[in-house]
Amino acid sequence: MEIEEGIAEEKNSTNWLPKERPNFIFGPCSAESPEQLRKTASQIAEHYPNAIFRAGVWKPRTRPNSFEGVGKEGLEWLSDIGNEFGLKTATEVAQPEHVEASLKAGIDILWIGARTTASPFSVQALADALKGVDVPVFVKNPLHPDLSLWIGAIERLLSSGNEKVGAIHRGFYLADNKNYRNYPHWDLAVQLKAKYPSMPLISDISHMAGKPSLLPQLAQKAMNLDMDGLLIETHYDPAIALSDAEQQINPAQLKELIDGVTFKSASSENQEFRNKLDLLRAKIDKIDEELVDKLAVRMGIAEEIGIYKKQNKVTILQLERWQQIMKQVQSQAELLGLSEGFIEKLYNAIHEESIRIQTDSKEDSAS
Ligand code: PEP
Ligand code: MN
Repeated sequence: MEIEEGIAEEKNSTNWLPKERPNFIFGPCSAESPEQLRKTASQIAEHYPNAIFRAGVWKPRTRPNSFEGVGKEGLEWLSDIGNEFGLKTATEVAQPEHVEASLKAGIDILWIGARTTASPFSVQALADALKGVDVPVFVKNPLHPDLSLWIGAIERLLSSGNEKVGAIHRGFYLADNKNYRNYPHWDLAVQLKAKYPSMPLISDISHMAGKPSLLPQLAQKAMNLDMDGLLIETHYDPAIALSDAEQQINPAQLKELIDGVTFKSASSENQEFRNKLDLLRAKIDKIDEELVDKLAVRMGIAEEIGIYKKQNKVTILQLERWQQIMKQVQSQAELLGLSEGFIEKLYNAIHEESIRIQTDSKEDSAS
């Protein structure tokens, strides 16, 4: 899908989240009872008075006959608890009626879930329901690693005139999720950030992790990548949670987790730091220039070889030679402390390009 650059971003050019980064969205997966919300919110508010308190009341479950949320009733609980502890509140909406009910109950922030983002008709219906509404809306990434679908949903909301659109990165469902519940695919989050540099982008590390043990490394990774905040599902007693029990943590665990994260800023005012950084960046720029120069020379030689192969009726792919190159560069890389995976990826790309050049070479296509 072709994506129109610029237009949507202009409308969303201010970071509208009120607090200094990092922004926190904490709270249970689902609202279960007023007591459950109160017990959880009181402990969150104690340490994180600026946190947004989340709870789902309509739960889009993969299969029926599991807990599907308490529905509309939960909105009043959530709104009351938010007022009681001075926390902003957030809930998931999947249908226009959800939007209407949430706004009526005074919920401060809405989000669109991963399953809904994947459906353009549903997203458009929500965007229409949100026309002229001044309430922030976060768009979670769709289940599958389809960046265009995520951007498309954001565009639908932006073009309904909502200027407070944000994104939540919750990871993607792959055939092989490695150790994660949803594979982070940080590269896609970074690409979204590059397209919408001033749009708040929050990392929902709970749905990526699926289990508490992975949360510390994910929280740190999100902060290292300059994400705007963290969404962490928190329940006063995760063991009895009615949804996502395995991944929720209690408020004491939350505090321990957040205390262990090193929060970084995107830049520093320190002049010495800036000077040093400029110097190092100048070195990198020079090396990049040399690398591209060398690549151009290498590809030129590959093209020449391609012509000889053609003239001598020899195949373009020479497996033995290719294996020998890989072995040679890997042993040099090992001596220099470069990772095997990196060199493999880099040389596979170089080899693929050489083959493309040799395939497209004039002599060859003239025949
Ligand atoms: C949730 O936030 O509880 C939720 C259902 O998330 P997702 O839409 O990312 O699966
Ligand atoms: Mn959940």
